[in-house]
Amino acid sequence: MDRGVRIVIVGGGTAGWLSAAFLQNQLPHTLNRSVDITVVEAEDIPTVGVGEATIPSIRQTLAACGIEEHVFLKTCGATFKQGIEFINWRDDPREKGINSYFHPFGDQITVAGQDATWQWLQLAPDERVPYAEQFSVQAEIARSGHSPKNFRDKPYDGALAYAYHLDAGKLAQFLKTLSKGRGAQHKVQKVVQIDREGEDIGAIHLDNGERIEADLFIDCTGFAARLINSDEQNDFKSLSDTLFVDRAVVTRVENESLADVIGYTKSTAQSAGWIWDIALQDRRGVGHVYSSRYIDDDAAKAELAAYVNQPVDALESRMLKMRIGYHDQQWRGNCVAIGLSSGFLEPLESTGIYLIEMANWAMLEFVPRFLAGAQPQGSYNRILHNHYNNIADFLKMHYCLSNRRDTAFWRDNCDPKTIPQSLQDNLKSWNAAVPSVYDFNSTTQCFSATNYKFVLYGMGWKGDGSAGSAPNGHVGRMMEELAQRRSKLREFVLRDTVPNLAYFEALQKL
Ligand SMILES: Cc1cc2nc3c(=O)[nH]c(=O)nc-3n(C[C@H](O)[C@H](O)[C@H](O)COP(=O)(O)OP(=O)(O)OC[C@H]3O[C@@H](n4cnc5c(N)ncnc54)[C@H](O)[C@@H]3O)c2cc1C
Repeated sequence: MDRGVRIVIVGGGTAGWLSAAFLQNQLPHTLNRSVDITVVEAEDIPTVGVGEATIPSIRQTLAACGIEEHVFLKTCGATFKQGIEFINWRDDPREKGINSYFHPFGDQITVAGQDATWQWLQLAPDERVPYAEQFSVQAEIARSGHSPKNFRDKPYDGALAYAYHLDAGKLAQFLKTLSKGRGAQHKVQKVVQIDREGEDIGAIHLDNGERIEADLFIDCTGFAARLINSDEQNDFKSLSDTLFVDRAVVTRVENESLADVIGYTKSTAQSAGWIWDIALQDRRGVGHVYSSRYIDDDAAKAELAAYVNQPVDALESRMLKMRIGYHDQQWRGNCVAIGLSSGFLEPLESTGIYLIEMANWAMLEFVPRFLAGAQPQGSYNRILHNHYNNIADFLKMHYCLSNRRDTAFWRDNCDPKTIPQSLQDNLKSWNAAVPSVYDFNSTTQCFSATNYKFVLYGMGWKGDGSAGSAPNGHVGRMMEELAQRRSKLREFVLRDTVPNLAYFEALQKL
């Protein structure tokens, strides 16, 4: 009888345990062979312990891990996330007052399948309802405290698109218990030596002297990238000239009650970065992401303390360093890097866990080919490069469209030398035309025309659509129909969903 495929995952953070749970549940079916998974994690190297906001793909990934939604929600202190509110990104609040826009999850509302953005652009700026409020109900529903679903909905389904806010520590623990219960071996040891045979890894050595061989090694060792990043092959492609933030100072604030749960991430721009604010069931996770080129750690901590309304000396916090960019060869020989070991783009649009998910879905396609003797590394690497570069463009757009000129950080973000050519080309094109499906490749792009439109027009993009009108382009009629469709959808959603408070009170009683 064939022995099982041996997969060794090094690293016990979100990447390590999510990959273990996913591959354990999916790969045996694809391969028609058993799969033996071993997870090795070092006791004295902590996980990064953040990564608490996700995007909607997570629902499909958790379902593919064979996880029940209500069990996940309860165990991981998770809440629903319906989008992100960007506060003070567009203008300097000292000049223009507090300003904000919403990037909602889900499709844009259309009129008989047609995008009415061009018509919206024809209105005078003071006649326009803010873009997200005009083309989605998500912001209004989320701000009113309504969740995106009710108790009767199927798991991972609801009236509106959604993702989760979750406790990263609890998630890793939850996935660990699940994977071990399904037979994964767990070794609490440090990898101290790697036997390399050309491109391949022959074996890893643990600090208790054990030597482990495998068919496939998965490097989930975080920024250390201990397996993929052999000294001779440092192929890290830094994106720090485009995306400036490289540090985070993080803290927690206890909730007084479940009524404090809000269903969207708040991202508030600061002098040299931004602060995330994420509500879980029992606490908020708050972190200031900043660029050490423009602000020092003490000043960054002071901005965080001011945000959470605490004296800076009393603020319990920890600081994390981030390396922005990705490894050229994320799969080399028989080793695949997943998670922070493969790369990282700052957390502005919560894409860290998404990239772990995408790596796993791609592995499901390519591992069987690899085990059959093919060399899928090049294809896999190209797909991941596309993901990284596309996300980098989207993130940079949030910064370079800002009117803020109050600090060098904001001024430098608009310097064309820091803006990728691909984004510059797109912006030129979107000056005259509305972004459309033709601008994107849905297989390797996390963010679609819809996402771009919510951010572009939320940021006050002046593009005028002068390249042409949509068919049936009568402005007044289209805007009226759009408003009617929105109002019907709003009524349906309010009828069909329950408030967050009711949902999570009921969940806690399960
Ligand atoms: C400031 C910040 C905010 C973020 N926010 C978000 C967010 O909102 N949403 C999102 O999706 N993502 C976010 N991320 C990214 C997210 O945190 C990571 O993608 C996710 O936690 C995965 O981390 P990891 O498992 O790759 O690495 P880690 O958590 O660093 O885990 C590394 C593991 O490797 C082990 N290890 C290391 N070296 C060895 C060795 N030699 N031998 C054995 N074991 C070893 C360690 O013990 C540890 O278990 C954020 C990241 C940062 C830095």
